[in-house]
Amino acid sequence: MCKCLRKSHRLGLKKETPPARRASEEIGTRYFRVLLFLRRLMETRENRTNRIISNCSPVESAQSATSPIPPAEPEDIQRLLQACHKAKESAYCPYSNFRVGSALLTSEGKIYSGCNVENACYTLGICAERTAIQKAISDGCRSFRAIAIASDLTSEFITPCGACRQVMREFGADWDVYLTKPNGTYIVKTVRELLPLSFGPEDLQKM
Ligand SMILES: [Zn+2]
Repeated sequence: MCKCLRKSHRLGLKKETPPARRASEEIGTRYFRVLLFLRRLMETRENRTNRIISNCSPVESAQSATSPIPPAEPEDIQRLLQACHKAKESAYCPYSNFRVGSALLTSEGKIYSGCNVENACYTLGICAERTAIQKAISDGCRSFRAIAIASDLTSEFITPCGACRQVMREFGADWDVYLTKPNGTYIVKTVRELLPLSFGPEDLQKM
């Protein structure tokens, strides 16, 4: 510390900041605020993917995904997750005994549930995901935020078959798919992550 500064301290004087330095500090403060905002935004996104169903054990793993579709509200996701587990109870699967339930959240916040429905003519069976999607489409809804899938698998998260992935892709690649376990844990993927390099309606326009 130089002599003149020591003197100003002794006299109780405030050190004056040069205008250029003040401007620099203001820019620094703004930059810091932007960084803080971005960090909070990322934390919110991360929390969304790590969220668990109430009264359930922590999620085993999670992977965030960017999506231009506004993320669903936490309470909507809770409803969605509970709905897919409940839908599983209605599964008609006398041949495979593999129960699957699904719940689909529309952009308007409506939830359509579905279960797998098998048939003595095996190939006529339909998956829970497509049941839910077809119910929504037939009710006039075509914009979706998320779909959740439940099964009785305890060793791993249930994943949709290839046919269901393609049917989901028909309605966009950047919406969320919640893959759950009976204990309530889940991971989140986007349709794009589940079906990379996919073919969709817009590709038909490229001819
Ligand atoms: Zn399927």
